[in-house]
Amino acid sequence: MSKSRNLSNRMATVLRTEKRSIVRKHFEELHQFYRELVLDETDTGLWTIRGELKLSASYNEEYIQDSFHVEILIPPDYPESVPIVWETEGRIPNGFHKYRSKALCLGPPLQVKMKFRENPTLLGFVENLLIHYLFGRCSYEKNGVVPFGEYSHERGMLDSYKEAFHLQTDIQALQMVKLIAEGKYKGHLTCPCGSGKRIRHCHGPQLIKISQFQRRSEFYEDYFTCIMEYIRGGNELPLFFRNKKLEKRLAKEYRSYLSAMNPSTMQNMGVNDHVGDKYFRKH
Ligand SMILES: [Zn+2]
Ligand SMILES: [Zn+2]
Repeated sequence: MSKSRNLSNRMATVLRTEKRSIVRKHFEELHQFYRELVLDETDTGLWTIRGELKLSASYNEEYIQDSFHVEILIPPDYPESVPIVWETEGRIPNGFHKYRSKALCLGPPLQVKMKFRENPTLLGFVENLLIHYLFGRCSYEKNGVVPFGEYSHERGMLDSYKEAFHLQTDIQALQMVKLIAEGKYKGHLTCPCGSGKRIRHCHGPQLIKISQFQRRSEFYEDYFTCIMEYIRGGNELPLFFRNKKLEKRLAKEYRSYLSAMNPSTMQNMGVNDHVGDKYFRKH
């Protein structure tokens, strides 16, 4: 084995050990408040927390006491990345803010990351994000609505950027995310918000602050999701946003969308092979 290989192996071990002690410390803190949760340590590096999560919380004079069985996966790069959580008794239906993996959708990813950064511990995660979600779910079961409002699952990403920057239109939000995703921020550009000001005197400082919350590649994923939400909403994507890289990805997404549907569903929905032309037409 070469010297550098040895070194990188040793570094990996150090990181794992360091990570373990962080997770144990954070779990102890969590366990003081949530006694029924158990930390499951495995050698594979995938650690989980399981058990019953008792919640008693109030919001706007509504008091809720309840409990859920959950499994929380601690990602390999925790606490850089946010834990992922499942509800394990099948009480929360798939139609209510869950991802395809059945993991709970605690909110639009950027919002979740920003919230987690405020207190990047297991206790912070549970109290600021998970309890918030479960409280919303309980309230929804009782009253049919989430008391503090919710992002639509169909266009949550676009709406979350629109809200984060206090913008009026989808196009403004798309332009703002595009700037971050492509790393093309220049202070003298005109701000996409329509104020007519240079961006450095308008949304620039906020854009710079938000761009620190995740990697550029992650913003590109968000940007792509925003575009998909925009298109699925029945809008045609303006030329301004189109380029080869994007068109290629849209075409791929469209093909997998078609292949996921069986022919009769497609017919029922009036979908035919040419429906995608609208999006991929060359102008
Ligand atoms: Zn959702
Ligand atoms: Zn602005």
